[in-house]
Amino acid sequence: MRIRFWGTRGSIPRPGPTTLRYGGNTSCVEVRAADGTLVVLDCGTGAFALGRELTASRQLHGHLLIGHTHWDHIQGFPFFEPLFVPGSQWEIYSAGGGEREIAETLAGQMTYEYSPITLDALDAQLKIRNLREGILDLGSIRVTAQYLNHPALTLGFRLEVDGARVVYATDHEPHSLHPLDAPPGTAPVHHEDRRHIRFLEGADLVIHDAQYLLDEFPAKAGWGHSPVERVVDYCLLAGARRLALTHHDPSRDDAAIDHVCERARARVPADAGLQVFAAVEGQEIELSGEVATERPPVTEASSALLRGERARHTVLIVDDDPDMVALLDVTLRSEGVRVLTAGDGETALELARSECPCLVLLDMNLPGRDGLDICRTLRAEADPRLGDVPILMLTGKKLKETDLIEAFVAGATDYLTKPIKPTLVRSRVRGWLMRAV
Ligand SMILES: [Zn+2]
Ligand SMILES: [Zn+2]
Repeated sequence: MRIRFWGTRGSIPRPGPTTLRYGGNTSCVEVRAADGTLVVLDCGTGAFALGRELTASRQLHGHLLIGHTHWDHIQGFPFFEPLFVPGSQWEIYSAGGGEREIAETLAGQMTYEYSPITLDALDAQLKIRNLREGILDLGSIRVTAQYLNHPALTLGFRLEVDGARVVYATDHEPHSLHPLDAPPGTAPVHHEDRRHIRFLEGADLVIHDAQYLLDEFPAKAGWGHSPVERVVDYCLLAGARRLALTHHDPSRDDAAIDHVCERARARVPADAGLQVFAAVEGQEIELSGEVATERPPVTEASSALLRGERARHTVLIVDDDPDMVALLDVTLRSEGVRVLTAGDGETALELARSECPCLVLLDMNLPGRDGLDICRTLRAEADPRLGDVPILMLTGKKLKETDLIEAFVAGATDYLTKPIKPTLVRSRVRGWLMRAV
């Protein structure tokens, strides 16, 4: 498997004399299998130079995997030259579902007001598909898609071919940094962070969002990016061999990225066998695996491809603060879900039993029976639709690690810390609803 970085910058391009070494183009990575199967990860401005090279070498068939459609991941799309070549064929995949269709989003950035060429005027044959978590085969490459934590519905991708494994995980914020000063080797408390580590497990190369340093992170919490120290910790726990730091913050010049990289390397024990570097635009990496692993077949249940119309989901919001309920209500209605609300635990239980919601947002500090008590009661229900329903606890700002552990023991699936950021709530809720499909 051959990897080449075409764009390593996050958020916005940063060209100029201070970014010559690491590059200024936004996210784009080329992955090529030994048999020629081509996957392009993200289509930021780096895709422009990649597209020119592909056209020059008449490589006109391939797959685009777009983790999410923030501009730094799609701005190169209208300038990706193979799309203008008659006879070329491209399969395009991105996280979709609910009210969101990837084809509409891509077309949206190419309407008359923004672009001289519209999506339907492109010469290439395009097949555009919505993805959820799951697996799919692109030529010889097995892809596993898993939701990341970002204020837009975002998928990370694990690619396996030729016995080698690469994970592309940007943009992603850890679900929890409790405790903030945890030493390396400490397993995270949050189930979703443990799941993220399993996603990275045994990777020959992890290409990971590393936009911030841990001491910068408190001011950036909720923006959907990782502190580099935690990325190193997770790669160590996952037994990954190489870590390419990417999605470099646009405020950092080359020297500042050197500093981030030094900070990351300082966290790796000498005997850990993890090589850490900051991804450089133009850099190529050859990965060779020893044993090609067995692949389970793609079934309807495990497939990452979304098919047809989705059922309308019901979400139950339980909070005694009317302002919070109103904020969540308007946020979730924009996702096209049916919203039920309750201001206390007893009403919540009645509604849950009669309506069987697909997801419960549950305030931890309710008057009377508190959120933990309601959570335990739901988990003890005989009806599996309640016993297994995803429960997102809504917690106050001053959350202690012991509170978190207590919430997970009570049966919580996930939690969101107040003050709530609507974009993050939308993507987290959508991710849980898509898992329920
Ligand atoms: Zn980004
Ligand atoms: Zn983003």
